[in-house]
Amino acid sequence: MPFVRDPCGIACLFVTYMAIFYADYVVIKWIILQSLQNSFWAPIHVILFNTIVFLLAMAHLRAVFSDPGTVPLPQNRLDFSDIHTNEKGELEKEEWTVCTRCETFRPPRAHHCRICKRCIRRYDHHCPWINSCVGENNQKYFLQFLVYVIVLAIYSIVLIVISWVTPCELCSTDAAESQSRLLHSVLLFLESTLFGLFVIAIMVDQMHAILYDETAVEALQQKGSFRPFRPKLALLADVFGQEHPLLWMVPCASLSRKYDTPLLSQDI
Ligand SMILES: [Zn+2]
Ligand SMILES: [Zn+2]
Repeated sequence: MPFVRDPCGIACLFVTYMAIFYADYVVIKWIILQSLQNSFWAPIHVILFNTIVFLLAMAHLRAVFSDPGTVPLPQNRLDFSDIHTNEKGELEKEEWTVCTRCETFRPPRAHHCRICKRCIRRYDHHCPWINSCVGENNQKYFLQFLVYVIVLAIYSIVLIVISWVTPCELCSTDAAESQSRLLHSVLLFLESTLFGLFVIAIMVDQMHAILYDETAVEALQQKGSFRPFRPKLALLADVFGQEHPLLWMVPCASLSRKYDTPLLSQDI
């Protein structure tokens, strides 16, 4: 699927990377290299913090540029004239539906995204923060992105609090520089708290959707609760793939599934 030219999504991508770069700048320049410069842990914090930034950016880029599960368009126009009479019962039983906007049949749990203008398999919602839909093929990376944002926000807050309670003997006594240090640490504290809480709320929603086998759009339409019971680990493996759960948070691993929803082009 081509990059979606949605101004709100592009602005959100810009804000995301500005927020990440600002956090890295403040933590390295104003906290570790100033307040914690004498600490044995300083180089370890630099490596650990930048590793999390790297994993966060990688998960985010994969969520942005992976195809969320776009339903392919038919090569020829389909004729839906008899859909409401002969085939309706059978289609409903198999949960295949028709998208009148894409003019195509779509597999169970696929929904049309008005922003991407395409149907997406196991569509959850369109997220401006990744400028794409959250669907079958990129929900794993979206969740990794959320987890790393939460980890980075908590880590930043811990470092800021340490810098506030630890007396800084080697810091510059220049009043302007002290004020800058304080201002940057307060701004990063606010940024980390706001983004952290916001992302925790999204994460709770996402985990609820996965563990109760009901995407956000199905919850709105009250469609998901009729599915048969499945173990929670199997539901998580649907999203994260068949690898060992220890690898679920590695953004460079690709998504492997036991089975795939058949593509429309192979089916008709
Ligand atoms: Zn559609
Ligand atoms: Zn979308």
